[in-house]
Amino acid sequence: MLTYILPLAISLLGLVVGTVAVHLAEAVLAKRKLAAPHCPYCATTLAPVQWSATLALFTGQGRCRGCGKFLRVPRLLGELFLALAWGLVVAKVGLSLRTLLVMASLIPQTMILVTDLEVKLVPSRIILPALAFMLAIGVVAGPALPDLTGWRWWQTLAGAAVGFVVFRVLVWVGVAIFGEGALGEGDITLAAYVGAVVGFPMVFESLVLAFALGGVGALLVLLTRRGKLGTAIPYGPYIILGCAMTQLWSVEILEWFWR
Ligand SMILES: [Zn+2]
Repeated sequence: MLTYILPLAISLLGLVVGTVAVHLAEAVLAKRKLAAPHCPYCATTLAPVQWSATLALFTGQGRCRGCGKFLRVPRLLGELFLALAWGLVVAKVGLSLRTLLVMASLIPQTMILVTDLEVKLVPSRIILPALAFMLAIGVVAGPALPDLTGWRWWQTLAGAAVGFVVFRVLVWVGVAIFGEGALGEGDITLAAYVGAVVGFPMVFESLVLAFALGGVGALLVLLTRRGKLGTAIPYGPYIILGCAMTQLWSVEILEWFWR
């Protein structure tokens, strides 16, 4: 029984923290002070139950009382992402100091997931402090992988360097071939952050997963003809999903791949 209660409780906590993180991200994005949450379209103050997009949906209050528009889907995805990821990590390895590091590393990922989906931006005021935090703590505590058994002080730094260099080159190539493409400067910093989170050599698994997910996404865009390839979907969410999957199932994915 207890095996279910703890992950569920942590999941609920993730929902609350996710809600706060999303509002913080939107406040940073709009360069305003954190005020009472309001409708992004008409600025009507939201009812407390609407502060969380998930809670609003489940209580049938997903629409703004002022303009009747549906409150943003990215908010909902961000809240659910953190709740699910926190629950899964704790269900897998239980609570420890390292689990807390993993949980902390998922908060900036949640914030970027939302801002990138909303306005295709990776705000440097979110990702740069997150990167600095991860690099500093990684040197003394190792990468934010839940089932890590041993690590070296340089793995975080090397991971960040790999993420940075790979995406720096990709952006150069992308701009040379397509002009302004799907990848932006923000994705480079995000890739460096992801590299710092999972460390070297797992950064490679994260990036391969991101490219695989991005390929599937591009294929869906092509098949459904929902928009121009390359500009239709921001790339950040793929990088973030690749990172979270590596944090949760790094070994399982490798075993599945080599089988
Ligand atoms: Zn409204």
